[in-house]
Amino acid sequence: MKVAENLIHISQQISNACHKVNRTPTEVRLIAVTKYVSIDRANETLEAGIINLGENRDDGLLKKWEVLGDKPIWHFIGTLQTRKVKNIIDKVEYIHSLDRISLAEEINKRAVKRMKCLVQVNVSQEESKHGLAPEAVLDFIKDLRPYENISIEGLMTMAPFTDDEEQLRTCFRKLRELRDQIKNCNLEYAPCTELSMGMSNDFEIAIEEGATMVRIGTALVGVAGEEE
Ligand SMILES: *Cc1c(COP(=O)(O)O)cnc(C)c1O
Repeated sequence: MKVAENLIHISQQISNACHKVNRTPTEVRLIAVTKYVSIDRANETLEAGIINLGENRDDGLLKKWEVLGDKPIWHFIGTLQTRKVKNIIDKVEYIHSLDRISLAEEINKRAVKRMKCLVQVNVSQEESKHGLAPEAVLDFIKDLRPYENISIEGLMTMAPFTDDEEQLRTCFRKLRELRDQIKNCNLEYAPCTELSMGMSNDFEIAIEEGATMVRIGTALVGVAGEEE
C-alpha cells in the first residue's frame, strides 16, 4: 500500500478517536516511524505530507539524514546510548527517551540549542522495557534543573504488549496523570505539555486518553520488504 493510502485511513481513525472525546485532530501530531523501511519509503512518507519522522537507532537516523537532511522534523524514539548522543544531537528536534541523569548530562553538554526532550516512563513496569518507574519521574525532573540546554516537553511510554484494552487504557491514563502532575509544578524548564504514546496497535486508545504525539510505523509505512 502507498503511504498516502494508509494515511487516509489512519487520519480517519485519529479523527474518530478525537471526536469520541471532544478533542481536535490538530492536537495530535502524527510521527511516522521509518525504522523498518528504506530511504525511498521515508521520502514517499514526506511526499505524502507527513513531516515528523521517528527513528530508534543512531545509524538508521544518520543514513536517512544524509539523504533527507532537515526536510523532516526528526524524532529520536529509541534507547539512546550516551556515547551516541553526539551523532544525533544536531539532527533531531526531539529526543523521546531521556531516562537517566548521565544521558541528560551528555545531551546538555553537546546541545547546539535547547534540546527538546521527553522523559521515558516504564508505566507498565515490565522488565524488558526502558524508562523510569512512575514514582521516580518527578524527582528525576526536579534534578534536571541545572541543565540549561534541556527542556522537558513531556512524557513518553510504550504500552505493554497486549490487546487487553483496559490494560492499555490504564497505562495511558497513568502517564497522563503523571504529566498533569508535573505540568502543574510550573517548572520553567519543564512545560511538560506533550504525551508521546500510542503505536500501530493502540494509538486510538492513546488518543482517547490524551496523546499529543502518536508514533506509528507498521500501519502507516509498513515494514521492510512489505512496503508495496
Ligand atoms: C518501532 C517503534 C514504534 C512504532 O511501532 P509500530 O508498532 O510499528 O507502529 C513506536 N515507538 C517506538 C519507541 C518504537 O521503537
